[in-house]
Amino acid sequence: MPSILIIEDEQRIRESLATRLSERGYDVQTVARAIDGVEQAVSGDFDVIVLDLGWPDLDGTEALRMIRAVKQVPVVVATARDDEADIISVLDAGADDYVIKPFSADHLAARIRAVLRRTSDASEEGTITVAGLRLDLDAHEATLDDRELDLTARAFDLLAYLANRPGKLISKRELLAEVWRQPYGGADKTVDVHISWLRKELGESAAEPRYIHTRRGVGIRLVDPTT
Ligand code: CA
Repeated sequence: MPSILIIEDEQRIRESLATRLSERGYDVQTVARAIDGVEQAVSGDFDVIVLDLGWPDLDGTEALRMIRAVKQVPVVVATARDDEADIISVLDAGADDYVIKPFSADHLAARIRAVLRRTSDASEEGTITVAGLRLDLDAHEATLDDRELDLTARAFDLLAYLANRPGKLISKRELLAEVWRQPYGGADKTVDVHISWLRKELGESAAEPRYIHTRRGVGIRLVDPTT
């Protein structure tokens, strides 16, 4: 039974999520204060952490960084902010995924399942090399020109999916289905956010792409920039 820690200050949300996720077979614990949540997340042995970002006394992103500084446990962030810059900074701080409030327990459960699946899938062996980009699928590590990239599990999976098909234009729908396992939609913005985050980590931009090229309304491809 996967264990989940919910760090959420709003009692109504906390209790409802605990009930609904328990009904789905998760072992759920909750905590109402961010600082206690960080402590439990770090000292406990949870499979997934669900972290609310809005706190009266502590920046949720800061709480995430505190957890990340000591633990690799997957973190799904629940946020009321849908501003892209905020979402990128949360992913940058090490979130594996996010949900925008208000969200349903079903939606959150789907994100949790996806995160758990990625964690258990991480045993595929082999390496992918495209020019200076090298992905170690076994260790889940990526380097660019021998510099180690700082990627979340999802960003790594996205990069691996693209790098495994160099030159091929891949639709966002396919990425959502294959990387996010959401064949029936999900927000295009999710892909956009991860792509801009990957670009930043690769030291490139949409205006000056090297590895990652997008064609608006069609898809994304990863190319060997040296050819
Ligand atoms: Ca809150």
